[in-house]
Amino acid sequence: MLGLENKIVAIAGGSRGIGRATAERFAQAGASVVIGSRTETEFTEAADSIRKMGTTALGLPLDVTSKESVQQFFNRIDQEFGRLDVLVYCSGMNRRVPAEAYPEDAWDQVLSTNLKGAYLCCQEAGQRMIQQKDGAIVTITSMTSHIATPNQSAYAATKGGLLQYTKVLAVEWGKHNIRVNAVSPGYIETALNANNFRNETFRNNVLNQMPMGRFGGTEEIANAACFLASPMASYITGACLPVDGGFLAGH
Ligand code: NDP
Repeated sequence: MLGLENKIVAIAGGSRGIGRATAERFAQAGASVVIGSRTETEFTEAADSIRKMGTTALGLPLDVTSKESVQQFFNRIDQEFGRLDVLVYCSGMNRRVPAEAYPEDAWDQVLSTNLKGAYLCCQEAGQRMIQQKDGAIVTITSMTSHIATPNQSAYAATKGGLLQYTKVLAVEWGKHNIRVNAVSPGYIETALNANNFRNETFRNNVLNQMPMGRFGGTEEIANAACFLASPMASYITGACLPVDGGFLAGH
């Protein structure tokens, strides 16, 4: 129904959390998925589990902070499939520290993972999609792309940058029939924010500001990413779709 059957879909950061749910959603839609991350046990387990759904799934090592690793990842996709229809850039990390004490090494790591990694992966994917004259890219941004929250200076800098980068790619690559969009998730319980979610005060504070009165599920972000990558969204590019229970609308 989504028109994703037999599409080749690469998911950077597809081994767990939102990326894993996105890989599963694409697989349900009949796509072949390639999952990349640093932790071999996780990307292997994710690919094995998705293959049991009856579709092709490959787990590959990928460190988005390394140009060499990114090139090897995309070269392997060339060898295995000979094309790439969709890239979802889901790799991400966060370190919460007050701005005046933010450590330089943490700043560098967050920027390399969330922003430079997006540049490296989108550039590799874009070069292939330009040759094909077809493709779709979805980046996973954040509420911090739009609003300021404390202790996340590096994360917000990357997610604000990632949103703007997404829009520039859409403007540059529209003529090549490549669509580039973002999904902006709300509060989704994953490994990324497990510490916050264990804190009752944090949970209540967020829920009190949440129009829909609940947190989101990884599969709800996955649905939006699949939609934006699919032919159902054939005239949507340069857009950012908030999937956040109304949180942004209320701020
Ligand atoms: P998780 O920590 O569950 O997943 C993060 C994924 O990114 C993992 O697959 C991880 O694998 C991968 N990753 C991290 N560093 C690298 C790296 N250097 N190279 C390749 N892959 C890497 O977090 P979420 O699922 O929550 O986050 C997914 C995306 O969604 C992130 O971009 C995050 O910023 C964004 N987001 C999440 C929200 C939430 O509430 N959870 C809200 C808004 C945005 P590995 O560590 O093995 O490499």
